[in-house]
Amino acid sequence: MIRAHILLAQTTTTEDEGDPLDFFRDFFDSEVWLVIRNVTLFFLVVFWLASAYWVYKDARRRIEDPWLLAMAVALGIFPPFVGPLLYMFFRPPEYLEDVRERELEIKAMEESLDTAERCPVCRAAIEPSFLACPVCTTKLKEACRRCKQPLEPLWQICPFCETPVESPRAVENLSG
Ligand SMILES: [Zn+2]
Ligand SMILES: [Zn+2]
Repeated sequence: MIRAHILLAQTTTTEDEGDPLDFFRDFFDSEVWLVIRNVTLFFLVVFWLASAYWVYKDARRRIEDPWLLAMAVALGIFPPFVGPLLYMFFRPPEYLEDVRERELEIKAMEESLDTAERCPVCRAAIEPSFLACPVCTTKLKEACRRCKQPLEPLWQICPFCETPVESPRAVENLSG
């Protein structure tokens, strides 16, 4: 008699708790759950492919070596989502075009240094206004006899004060 009571109690309790479980079971069997699951999976796959594509696009701008680029793309694909995150930690910090631009700037700077005027004797850097090399005292330019501005060898007249330039040849002719 007591045993029957317990059994009865058990069956009633399982029946009472059976309702929410049945609800979940029904829910997971239902079309709604199927749609939610498929849409979630769809978005996960789309996000996975998009993140892998982003890694490919970003790596192409930063990595020149084809093998390293292939490795970066593989990491972007697998493991999903974690790979792109790892790639972000270890990717080269600069874009290739920035590196190239900087190299060009450095090259241009070096060239401009090379084209800077230099003393023909000791190669010391000189300025256009120098009359003599300050390092080896070589005479570089004549000064205008009136305004003392430095004159280029080809000038026939001083551009600053319009005084005609006395070339060494003319001086020679005068003396001879
Ligand atoms: Zn010099
Ligand atoms: Zn002058």
